[in-house]
Amino acid sequence: MQNLREKTALVTGASRGIGKAIAKRLAHDGAWVAVHYGRDKKAAEQTVAEITESGGRAFSVQADLGSMMGVERLFEQLDTLTIKHTGSTSLDILVNNAGIGTQGSIETTTEKQFDELIAVNIKAPFFIIQKALPRLRTGGRIVNISSAETRIAFPASIAYGLTKGALNTMTLPLAKQLGERGITVNTILPGYTETDINAEILSDPSVREYAVGMTALGRLGHVSDIADAAAFLASEESRWVTAQILDVSGGIRL
Ligand code: NAD
Repeated sequence: MQNLREKTALVTGASRGIGKAIAKRLAHDGAWVAVHYGRDKKAAEQTVAEITESGGRAFSVQADLGSMMGVERLFEQLDTLTIKHTGSTSLDILVNNAGIGTQGSIETTTEKQFDELIAVNIKAPFFIIQKALPRLRTGGRIVNISSAETRIAFPASIAYGLTKGALNTMTLPLAKQLGERGITVNTILPGYTETDINAEILSDPSVREYAVGMTALGRLGHVSDIADAAAFLASEESRWVTAQILDVSGGIRL
């Protein structure tokens, strides 16, 4: 797919992991990509460098999404940077990827963990969509990165699953409302995908074996597995696909 030449994309949490792979893939497909990052400036600059070195177009934008101030800051900077690079504040593709994962059962999850999860995994994507709406062109694309944990019972990270479930729930009403502007809204549910978010937990061989055993395809996910699905949902080829919650997990046990 090389059809994104006229498009501008914002990918949150694109300094590493799944977000980085999505940013690189959209840039490969031709889009101008705003590589959002929270604290890891060096890693974001590395993402931008990898994109530009392979002929793509990208710039980085910093904002901590743990507060509304951060969301405001994201768009203030984004407007300046998109005008500078693309000549307009308009966006075509928004990928709400930034997220945090917290281990904790109903007994052990603290209020602080709960509030952080809500802020980063629900409140930030909600208000990023709100702020992106006036900037999104007709035919735009919103892709949210949720989790396959919303489809299986995971008592050990109950609050995380709860926040990702909210993203799933947001998908349908937004798709209905934005359909009249030709904007599609879809949500991807990655399964176990090897990144920094789960490196520690997957370093335990028994957890790893369990995670692999849960998939029909018998392996852990690679970031490119998720990036390919996101690229499809961001592309013209997905024009008739909206309001979908797409499991991209290698067939995780339901
Ligand atoms: P990751 O930890 O490698 O990346 C998360 C990104 O979000 C980072 O770039 C980080 O800087 C950013 N981020 C987190 N908190 C932030 C904040 N307060 N402000 C700004 N940026 C912030 O994780 P990943 O595995 O690449 O996960 C990407 C998305 O995929 C997340 O939403 C995650 O919940 C989801 N997911 C991952 C897996 C998996 O197995 N890796 C499975 C299901 C869902």
